[in-house]
Amino acid sequence: MINILDLFTNTQIKLIDKKREAGDKYVFYFKPISPIDWKAGQDGIFTFRGKKIEGKSLRIFTVASSPDEKNIIISTIIVDKPSDFKDKMRAMEIGDSMFLRGPFGIFVLPNYNKKVALIAGGIGITPMRAILKDLEDKDIPMDVTLFYVDSKKDFVFKEVLEASSSKNSKIKVRFFEDRDSFTEELSKYVEQNKNDSLYFISGTPKMVKGIRMDLKNKEILNQNIVSHRLLGYK
Ligand SMILES: Cc1cc2nc3c(=O)[nH]c(=O)nc-3n(C[C@H](O)[C@H](O)[C@H](O)COP(=O)(O)OP(=O)(O)OC[C@H]3O[C@@H](n4cnc5c(N)ncnc54)[C@H](O)[C@@H]3O)c2cc1C
Repeated sequence: MINILDLFTNTQIKLIDKKREAGDKYVFYFKPISPIDWKAGQDGIFTFRGKKIEGKSLRIFTVASSPDEKNIIISTIIVDKPSDFKDKMRAMEIGDSMFLRGPFGIFVLPNYNKKVALIAGGIGITPMRAILKDLEDKDIPMDVTLFYVDSKKDFVFKEVLEASSSKNSKIKVRFFEDRDSFTEELSKYVEQNKNDSLYFISGTPKMVKGIRMDLKNKEILNQNIVSHRLLGYK
């Protein structure tokens, strides 16, 4: 029987930097030991080798870097008492290795013709960073508005997102600390753009479900909504 995981290349990646960005949000920077190609917005399966992990021995994380950046950037929440997997990630030292299968996934801009709203909750920002950086790298003048809500006010990647926007006047980034102002501004955008825009949503399953329902109630067609659920978070 074919193991589906065998269909994806498994690449060794070495830690080159690790930062505690804000609160319990960490960012990890890895250098692949052989080149990896991916599309902005895709996810990978991350594992350790030679370490005994209690519980599940793999995690899916979104690659938050663009293909032109070459290195793999991921960001995750590591709480005080995390899973053993994340405990091992937090303990990693520069030069330590993980393994990455993929990347794969469909949370990728289908073309650059239609305007798009990128809607991110908390750590759901990871694919949005990759997508905006990719547009910047390729110098694509696409009409994009990022709606980024984080009630913890951590706003991981704030600087790089603002830099993408300052280099391209068609890219707008909006940061929201509370759900009400976020909902209000997103509703205004939907009212103005209706089905002339795509809606890319990334966050916890609960958040994605709620926004999807709101959009459908506002008569946004399924074909214009793309969801990215960070399964594993409540
Ligand atoms: C397609 C896809 C893409 C993904 N991309 C990412 C990504 O880019 N970044 C990312 O971090 N995850 C991502 N995930 C989720 C990731 O795979 C893990 O499921 C998730 O990070 C939880 O990890 P953990 O099981 O190690 O639990 P831990 O995060 O270690 O949590 C341990 C326990 O604490 C609870 N907990 C965690 N956070 C909190 C909190 N803030 N408050 C209260 N309780 C909490 C959890 O519910 C759990 O019970 C993605 C998942 C999918 C399917």
